[in-house]
Amino acid sequence: MTPADPISTPPRIARASAVELSLVVPIHNEAAGLDEFFTRTLAVLEKLGLTWEIVCVNDGSTDASLERLLEFHRRLPAIKIVSLSRNFGKDVALSAGLDYASGAAVVPIDADLQDPPELIERMVAKWREGFDMVYAVRNRRDGDSWLKRQTARYFYRIFDRITDIPAPRDTGDFRLLDRRVVDVLARLPERTRFMKGLFAWVGFRHAAISYDREPRRAGDTKWGYWRLWNFALDAITSFSSLPLKIWSYLGLVISIFAFLYAMFLAGLKILRGIDVPGYASLMVAVLFFGGVQLTSLGIIGEYLARMYNEVKGRPLYLVRDAWGFDQPSP
Ligand code: UDP
Ligand code: MG
Repeated sequence: MTPADPISTPPRIARASAVELSLVVPIHNEAAGLDEFFTRTLAVLEKLGLTWEIVCVNDGSTDASLERLLEFHRRLPAIKIVSLSRNFGKDVALSAGLDYASGAAVVPIDADLQDPPELIERMVAKWREGFDMVYAVRNRRDGDSWLKRQTARYFYRIFDRITDIPAPRDTGDFRLLDRRVVDVLARLPERTRFMKGLFAWVGFRHAAISYDREPRRAGDTKWGYWRLWNFALDAITSFSSLPLKIWSYLGLVISIFAFLYAMFLAGLKILRGIDVPGYASLMVAVLFFGGVQLTSLGIIGEYLARMYNEVKGRPLYLVRDAWGFDQPSP
């Protein structure tokens, strides 16, 4: 075990211990599924004939995940562990893993076997052809519920519309990244880490391979709908300022209507002398504009809160312990 300085970015590990392929596995309460995960993944890695490491990021698990990981680490030192000081969320855990990974190619992969490790072979083949990023596109998502598939679909549609980064549909974090991409990602300073967006933003030469998304093997999904909603807000606010800008246009349109309506009322009064009893319309207008103003303020608040977060400049994650980062690779 290396007593890590929790705040410093990881030891940019001496390249002497660099490997060809690193897997990065974010783990939050996955104890039940780890055996099967490693069995299948190791079988794939054996076949590849590359030097490899598996960087497991323990993202504040409260079950026996860490103990299980340590057992694996003792048996196979190439299974390395970064243990964060608490639960930071998957995207941050992934960033931590990318920082610690030393491979010439890095593959983030979920521990629940929804990303079939067998695909790594095809990714590596594409990588050898010279692509910097090989992402896996889901054909089917049988593994996820109907509501989740629909919300995901609409979210990505909206995201596509209002941002100008070409994020490929139906991809997750499961992909192969060349070292040059990993190095660029590590240098991005932002704290709101919507990884799928960042992956698309960096560009480079990419290729796609498709697969069927499987159901989760063990344990439960950590993404409730509230969490997904906030995830969507993070995604959109980090890649688009459209929600901030629409208000001036909406305001303009409403002002024009208000002006026309005022003219209309004045005309009515002058021509016909009718004094309109206006309680109901007044009430509706007041409530409507109250709503519009609160919404627009709320949206400014969303951005402001994220700016505040960035300005505070706290480290992205804190590492409690790290195991295996001083051993030579297999
Ligand atoms: N995960 C994590 N931190 C979290 C939530 C999830 O590291 O706060 C890990 C989790 O252990 C798994 C991966 O991220 O390896 C994907 O999580 P999950 O399967 O719950 O997400 P879903 O597949 O439902 O999108
Ligand atoms: Mg999953």
